[in-house]
Amino acid sequence: MNFPEGADSSIRFLFGDADIRGETVLLGSSIERIASAHPYSPRVQQLLGLFAAAAVLISNNLKYSGKIVLQARSQGPLSLVMIECTSTGEIRGIARGNIDADTPTPMELIAGGQLVITIERDGGQRYQGIVPLDGTTLGGALDNYFEQSEQLQTRFWLACDGRVAAGFMLQQLPAQRQQNAETRTEQWQNATVLAATLADDELLSVPRATLLHRLFHESALRVFDPQPVIFNCSCSRERSLNALRCLETQELKEIIAEEGHISMTCDMCNTPYQFNPEEVLGLAEPPVLH
Ligand SMILES: [Zn+2]
Repeated sequence: MNFPEGADSSIRFLFGDADIRGETVLLGSSIERIASAHPYSPRVQQLLGLFAAAAVLISNNLKYSGKIVLQARSQGPLSLVMIECTSTGEIRGIARGNIDADTPTPMELIAGGQLVITIERDGGQRYQGIVPLDGTTLGGALDNYFEQSEQLQTRFWLACDGRVAAGFMLQQLPAQRQQNAETRTEQWQNATVLAATLADDELLSVPRATLLHRLFHESALRVFDPQPVIFNCSCSRERSLNALRCLETQELKEIIAEEGHISMTCDMCNTPYQFNPEEVLGLAEPPVLH
């Protein structure tokens, strides 16, 4: 399947005449891998795309090594939507609940839910923020989150047609190039008004260089090299075996008696893992140490 030029990459840019930075992402095959892992309805696929675009924008906006997890929990048709993005641009994700649900808009799938943003730095440092999702778009919820947590004005625009996902973000930086408060406000307003003119189909199909030129050709943008985004699942045989530790020994024995082995399939990438009884029960009944 053909995706638009520049799909599966994210581009950072900096205004030359204002304290504003931005980022734009376009996802094709990476979101296709996530969206095709289960028989999701087109609406659920669309929601996964919006979450994926947002997760990449948030991750690339941080100077860190680790991963961010963007998830929503709700009482709506979907109990969970989750996308993980690492600082090296690897994404994976899943939706759980009534995954063939169809609602008028993607956000209604997670109506009344909460958005949880977790930043896990390599080495164990962890930060978590929560914002309500009631009555807002995903972009709107993220705008609120950034205003509260970082006290930096940030605006998100997200779009997904179920196949391609796109995101655009602008953030006002502390005064450096421009000290005059009035000019700073004016520059920020101008930039966000221009970005708000982006139609979804423009965001989803126009090459990024053209898009940035159209919007901000007067702002002497410094545009950085595109950073690739790929689908990659961090599951492994060892992690699956560790997960089996959570099950009761009796339960494991019953499965083995019935099947002769225990198998597990990663629900994010559908990789099957099979374990023989010795491996599994060896874990469930740790050897006595002398
Ligand atoms: Zn996996």
